[in-house]
Parts: sequence; C-alpha cells; structure tokens
Amino acid sequence: MELFNEVNTVAPWFFPTMVFVLGACVGSFLNVCIYRIPAEKSVVFPGSTCACGKPIAWFDNIPILSWLILRGRARCCGRPFSIRYPAIELLTALLFLASWMHHPPAKAVVGMVFISIMVCATFIDFDHMIIPDRFAIGGAVVGVLLSGLVPALHDQAVTPYWAINATRAVLEAVIGMFIGSALVLWIAEIAEVVLRKEAMGFGDVKFLGAIGAFCGWQGGVFAVFGGAVLGTIAFAGILIFEKATGRAASPAAEPEQDTSPAPEAGGDSKDESEPESAIGFGRETPFGPMLAAGALLYFLWLHPIVDGYFAEVYKLLTDFS
Ligand SMILES: [Zn+2]
Repeated sequence: MELFNEVNTVAPWFFPTMVFVLGACVGSFLNVCIYRIPAEKSVVFPGSTCACGKPIAWFDNIPILSWLILRGRARCCGRPFSIRYPAIELLTALLFLASWMHHPPAKAVVGMVFISIMVCATFIDFDHMIIPDRFAIGGAVVGVLLSGLVPALHDQAVTPYWAINATRAVLEAVIGMFIGSALVLWIAEIAEVVLRKEAMGFGDVKFLGAIGAFCGWQGGVFAVFGGAVLGTIAFAGILIFEKATGRAASPAAEPEQDTSPAPEAGGDSKDESEPESAIGFGRETPFGPMLAAGALLYFLWLHPIVDGYFAEVYKLLTDFS
C-alpha cells in the first residue's frame, strides 16, 4: 500500500495509463468472446485468424493501434476489418479508466470484471438477440462471490470485522439480484399484456440479476428505468438519422462473422403475426444493451445521486412525524 501511494505521488499518470492499456487488451479479448461464445467455440484456441484463413501475427493484433496502423485492413489479403473491433477496445479501456478514477482500487478491479461482463453481453445481444447464461447467471454468481471477497463493492458502513462486512455485502448482492430480476419479470409480464407481444425475454430477467448482484437493488432499479430512458434517446437518434439520410442505420457487416446469421435480416421472418411497426419501430430491439448502459452509468458515475434519491424517497414514505 505504501509503494502504491508512493508511485501515485511521484507518477500520478502511471496507474491510470496501466489501467487504460489493460482495458484495451481485455477489450481485445472481449472481441474474441463476443464472436466465439455464441458460436460455442473455445475463446483460447486457436489464435486469431483472418477470414482468408491466415493467422494474424501478434504485432498486427495490438489493441486499437494495429487497426489504425493498418487502416482497418488485413495485412494478408486487404479484407476490411470492422471499426467495431477497435471501438470495443477503446470503449473497454475508457470504462476501465473510469472505474479506476471513481473507485478505491479493490472496488475498481471488481468493477473491471463487471464492465467486461456488461460489454460482452451487450454486443452478443446486439448480434444474436440473446444473453448467454454464462453472463446472466454466471455474472450473478460472480457478483455475489466478489461481494463477499470485496465488501467495499457495496459501500455500506464499514465495521472493523471483515466477516460482518462480507456478510452484509453478500446480503446486499443477493437482495439486489432478486429485486432486479423480479422487477424485470413484472415489467415483462405487464408489457406482454399491454403490447400483446413479448417485450423482454427471460434472458433480460437473469441479466438484471447479475446487475443487481454487482450494483445492489438501487443499481438494479436504476438500470431498468435509466436504461429505458437511454434506449428511448438512442431510438429517437436513430429515427432522426434515418429520416435525415433516408436510409436504415444498420450495424456494419462483420468480415469475420459471415457464418453467423444476420440478426436484422433473418429475425423478422419468424414473426409474421403483426407488422413490427405496430409500436413505431420496424425492428426487434434487444433490451440487454440498454440495461447494461444504465447499469454502467449507475456504477461509474451516478450511484451517489441515485442512492441519495432512493434514501430520500424512503424517508418520505416512512417518516410520519
Ligand atoms: Zn487475410
């Protein structure tokens, strides 16, 4: 700890830089996970190959930089690589940095695990309209375990006794898990009755369990409503973009992913009961990315405000004097 403080005084840029580089490298690994986990391939073997079959050398696989140096094209055959690869690396690096800047070291590191789960689940949901159980259920289990290991994750009042802190944090995680899941379950039920179509899947219910385990019930509740607001803003943006340019904004084609079904093109054929535009948007919408965005917004920036707000509401509701 002393060394840590010394380094921080002499070179305050050192740890943030390390964290940023770590985030970019983890982001590079997340790209592999996002592509391979839904295809049920190993995330370790084999190493990255180009779509032409040639292996990608390590010096052409440096996060963010390689894409810029090669101007988004493969060295072997000139195939274009989607800008999504460096974008996810940069996004992960920036989120890691934010976690480091806003939280004490132990909580920041747990936050990096949380961020990785959120980024992976978001882009898999974008691509395939599913959130794999290893992120939803796995995330909830990891969240509860890490709460016991790092009680500071749920910054409640700290006692001198580690066991008490750990028990409280685990309890907080479990409550967050159940309240988060239950909330989404009820909203999904109600939405199904009102919209007469499935609005959210059971994957979202389990995913909110993972968010609640890491962020507590306040974070879970915020993820749902904050996520809905962010989703609405994003949709308004997309609609305006489409109106202004007269074309559909669709995610760029993935050169490496030509074997996976295109979610936009293939997804609509199975649902022919009613035109999708009945609720105004001519497409299926994954809700996972909105939940993840709301959760990260809470975890990285808004938690003091949101927690304070909930405490205030609680006081108003219970204080009769
Ligand atoms: Zn190639």
